[in-house]
Amino acid sequence: MMIGNLNTYDYPPFRPPNEASSTLIRITRGCPWNRCTFCAMYKQIKFKTKALKEVRNDVLKAREIYGVSDTIFLGDSDNLVHKALPEIIAFIRETFPEARRVTSYARAKTILYRKMEFLTAVRKAGLERIHIGLESGDAVTLEKLCKGANPQEMIKAGQKARKAGFEVSFYVLIGAGGKERWKEHATNSAKVLNAAGADFIRLRTLTIQHGTPLDKKLEKGEFTITPPLEKLKEVKLFVENLDLEDCFLASDHLTNYLWAGNSIIYRGIAGSLPSDKDKMLQTVNKAIDFVESSGLVIKDSNQLYREGIISYL
Ligand code: SF4
Repeated sequence: MMIGNLNTYDYPPFRPPNEASSTLIRITRGCPWNRCTFCAMYKQIKFKTKALKEVRNDVLKAREIYGVSDTIFLGDSDNLVHKALPEIIAFIRETFPEARRVTSYARAKTILYRKMEFLTAVRKAGLERIHIGLESGDAVTLEKLCKGANPQEMIKAGQKARKAGFEVSFYVLIGAGGKERWKEHATNSAKVLNAAGADFIRLRTLTIQHGTPLDKKLEKGEFTITPPLEKLKEVKLFVENLDLEDCFLASDHLTNYLWAGNSIIYRGIAGSLPSDKDKMLQTVNKAIDFVESSGLVIKDSNQLYREGIISYL
């Protein structure tokens, strides 16, 4: 993209790592919920659904700038709130006929609120995959995170989205239960995913960012960060309890790493379920053995963020 002249457009500030090469199109700005205690993504942005004309102009501009696009990602956090989404997707498909994939973020509550006919129309227009933040399947943890949806709603939303024909990618936030609830967080998150069904599971590790409501709770001693060893045990318990067919689990984020000094001793796990389950558990077990036996100080993304080594997540 050319910087410093008019050859740009309003594109989303966030996208999943696997959409790094995608053309980004912004349908909405910000998050209509914006209350999750751990999230700093859109706190400074007033939520807005963009006018159809504005989005169409952005799409045409993106075409002019990028030419062909293999994959397209739509922001911001909850595009299913946009009433004109079927028309927008159809226009994107018409403008980028070669695109192999069009995907978007979505909130569970909005999926539940939308009629099946609307979801089907969006899917038929050409949106293939939606990314949903589950964060946790544990009712107490979801409540504390102020996620705005309970486990039953998460299950229903996942089932409804898959029934409408979408591929569903769920995000799970390792460490979300804190030191006190890591076991319940792990087992209940697996339980929700087993019931909802998932095509992808993406692990993120809770990294408490400055200025978030959770940061304030941390300061007041109302939340305790799960230590690295327990986090590994949480991942292990979570994976052990997963019972899914045809699902890919990814740890495609830096927050999942563990460090000893300058060395990364754990990069997370990735693989297909159920076929790679044992292999992934072996990787976690190896990391647990290392942490328990090495005697080294193990750091996670929270420490590195607070030391200023990780500045942007
Ligand atoms: S986690 Fe998602 S739903 Fe929650 S405030 Fe952030 S963008 Fe909105």
